Amino acid sequence: MELVYLDYSATTPVDKEVLNTYTKLLNLFYANSSSIHSLGIEASTMESAARIQIADLLKVSMDEVIFTSGATEANNMAIKGIVDNFPLAKKHIVTSSVEHPSVLNVFKQLEAQNKVSVTYLPVDNQGQINLQTFEKELTSQTILVSIMYVNNETGAIFPILEIAKILKKYPHIKFHCDMTQAVGRLPLDLSEIDLATFSAHKIYGLKGSGVLIKKNNVELVPLIVGGEQEFGYRSGTSNWFANVATSKALRLALEKQRERYTYVDGLRSYLLSKLALMSEIVINHCISNCSPFIINISILNKNSEVLSRALEGKGFIVGTKSACSAKASHPSHVLLAMGRSEKLALSMIRISLSHHTLKSQLDNFLNALTEIISTLK
Ligand code: PMP
Repeated sequence: MELVYLDYSATTPVDKEVLNTYTKLLNLFYANSSSIHSLGIEASTMESAARIQIADLLKVSMDEVIFTSGATEANNMAIKGIVDNFPLAKKHIVTSSVEHPSVLNVFKQLEAQNKVSVTYLPVDNQGQINLQTFEKELTSQTILVSIMYVNNETGAIFPILEIAKILKKYPHIKFHCDMTQAVGRLPLDLSEIDLATFSAHKIYGLKGSGVLIKKNNVELVPLIVGGEQEFGYRSGTSNWFANVATSKALRLALEKQRERYTYVDGLRSYLLSKLALMSEIVINHCISNCSPFIINISILNKNSEVLSRALEGKGFIVGTKSACSAKASHPSHVLLAMGRSEKLALSMIRISLSHHTLKSQLDNFLNALTEIISTLK
């Protein structure tokens, strides 16, 4: 049975062109891009070209692009690096209660170490923060605001440009934005953001490769020290093959972004119109300000895990919650923060779409879901 993949927010398959570039490089080259001999220079030239391409695409300068192993590392690096660099005894941070675990758990760790106090902004039943509440939380001790661009469970789009505008009044505060679910999907404007992160595998690139954009006005204490690669911010022999592949994945994703968005938006409207006819379904994702790539529903009185296994039995792969914490049995912190009951949160599935998704696959998915709802106890 051929499986229909509907979990593109957890990860995406590697684009053929990206894979070709990567395998070609691996076959032809092996030098360390930090070496000063000719083979090393050849490698570092290709890596620099990749860095410049990413910088040009994101309209930042090349020394603001730091390659990492992914968004998790980049988020850790940004947040811990800022906190350790600030001399203040009392450091305050504002974030949302629905960030990805690679942000929230960093704050939990820093709080446990008594390094910071953190305000976790509540969200409404649409998973959205309130900008007035946000601004009220800013103090003279606030050093960092960390708000994601698109929520990975609900697709809620956060008002990051408005946040950046408010923060102009507070120049002592740096702004970190996890853009993992937005890159290649939504328009990007990094001009007022100090630190931004993403992973290549969400944009048809390789797993284990990501980027931290760190503006030159921000100083970080490095998370990993050693041979001073990546401008001293991320030591270790560079995986430059993957970095080149990431620049290609980003270029392709941005080139095709508009076309893919329009296509997926149409698919989402179609799927939602059909789901609206099913009485057992509760829509969890937001009605407006929502990425079309993510659809989040709960099915009354059905457990997520049982549902996803039943769907897989019929050939459909869906997500249950953030893949990074999907194995833990506790309900989604995002849905709980939105005021959903624990029972409803334990009944959620996430359907995430791509330009690869076909309307006929969604029709078959809807038939399978209807059948499962009527037979599953
Ligand atoms: N942030 C968000 C919003 C994500 O969706 C993810 C991946 N689920 C990450 C960070 C972490 O990415 P990675 O696992 O590639 O480090």
